[in-house]
Amino acid sequence: MDYFDVNLDLSDEDLALKAAAHQFAKEVIRPTAKALDEMTPEAVIADGSPLWPFLRKAYELGYHKMLIPEPFGGMGLNPLQVNIVMEELAWGSFGLAVHLATTSFVAYTACFTGNEELIKEFTTPYCECTDASIRSCWGGTEPDHGSDMIGMGEAFFYEPNVRTNCLARRDGDEWVINGQKAAWVSGGPIATHCQLHVQSDPSMGISGFSIFLLPLDLPGVSKGKPLNKIGQRDLTQGELFFEDVRVPDKYRIVAPDMYGAMEEGILSLANSWMASWATGLARAAFDEALTYCKERVQGGRPLAEHYTIKQRIFEMFARVETCRALTRAAINLNMNIAPGFPEYSMAAKITATKLCLENANDAIQLLGGNGLSKEYLVEKLFRDARASLIEDGNNEVLARHGGHTLFDTYPRSRSDIVKLDLGEG
Ligand SMILES: Cc1cc2nc3c(=O)[nH]c(=O)nc-3n(C[C@H](O)[C@H](O)[C@H](O)COP(=O)(O)OP(=O)(O)OC[C@H]3O[C@@H](n4cnc5c(N)ncnc54)[C@H](O)[C@@H]3O)c2cc1C
Repeated sequence: MDYFDVNLDLSDEDLALKAAAHQFAKEVIRPTAKALDEMTPEAVIADGSPLWPFLRKAYELGYHKMLIPEPFGGMGLNPLQVNIVMEELAWGSFGLAVHLATTSFVAYTACFTGNEELIKEFTTPYCECTDASIRSCWGGTEPDHGSDMIGMGEAFFYEPNVRTNCLARRDGDEWVINGQKAAWVSGGPIATHCQLHVQSDPSMGISGFSIFLLPLDLPGVSKGKPLNKIGQRDLTQGELFFEDVRVPDKYRIVAPDMYGAMEEGILSLANSWMASWATGLARAAFDEALTYCKERVQGGRPLAEHYTIKQRIFEMFARVETCRALTRAAINLNMNIAPGFPEYSMAAKITATKLCLENANDAIQLLGGNGLSKEYLVEKLFRDARASLIEDGNNEVLARHGGHTLFDTYPRSRSDIVKLDLGEG
């Protein structure tokens, strides 16, 4: 079902992008996601898995570079278009939509460094790739440190000598990395490259992190078993291990003095994308419930003709529109400015993930027993939605951080806005 978009400012190009993404979501993402959801994590990444033709098709269509600006070889979408496409892809499947974005993280980050050499190594080949042979991941979370990683502003974040599970030690012109990242690294099991967040100055505690971009075929890198989880089972996840991995200094793009600010910038972007995907899921649940209620007859007439059902469906519709409005405001702000206003993206992420879970839950209730059956989509939507309240930061921890930002910076003024200028690449 094609969902009406109330934004009268959408251009013909926006509408064409939306229609194409919707068709891809319906014809390719939905059936792939259903198959992957029923497979073991090992089978999902094995040769012959439907994951591979899906990725190749997505790369051929250019969806792997949807975040990358045109001067660097990307699709060059504006923030509203990113939102539109992300929402459509996640209508197909939240997990696969996340997978496609994650795979671009190294190339995306490299193009903001302004470093020609890194752009040539990490961004250009990725944008030219059409066979899905280059895929990245983001390795931040560690077995002993989840929410700690986004504890900017909290005393523990700066506490010296906090032990992390992964450490980078300087050795001349190189860094030597030892330790591991948690099983939560999205795309980790199939990634060829990683954006690695790793402690490099233990005297600064967790704030003493650096960010590296690196290929994962370096000697000493290995991977754990892919993770088995309740929802977003089509999003492959797994540990990364590092044993005396030697990395040239040129791969370090952020040093500890800028780490906290960079994390905040990343959250400002990533949370607005999470909110876009959550909007897509909220809409998928609404669509399923609406269609079912028109067909299912109880009390001698379709469910849709019962007064209370109309009210319940309307509440689902209102949640979709709330998600979309808040998300578009956040993404439009934070993809256009530097360093970003994280509280807007956090408000959008927290609200949209909560509302998408409510919609999935209500869809199950409206389908009755059928809602619990694997024959219908809504039980998968519920499981996928549940994961989103933890993904990219637990909602409570994000709210705490958003609260800090408010007390530190409000009232904001328009002079706080610094427009992002990507130049000519
Ligand atoms: C689907 C999915 C995809 C993900 N993808 C990636 C990825 O690509 N790369 C990556 O690095 N990570 C990824 N993550 C990890 C994710 O970022 C972490 O799961 C998240 O930050 C929470 O960390 P945690 O799971 O260790 O929970 P914990 O931090 O252990 O939190 C447990 C509970 O304690 C609460 N809590 C934690 N700290 C505090 C505090 N100081 N005060 C009060 N309450 C607190 C939390 O709100 C939560 O309820 C992913 C997670 C999911 C679910």
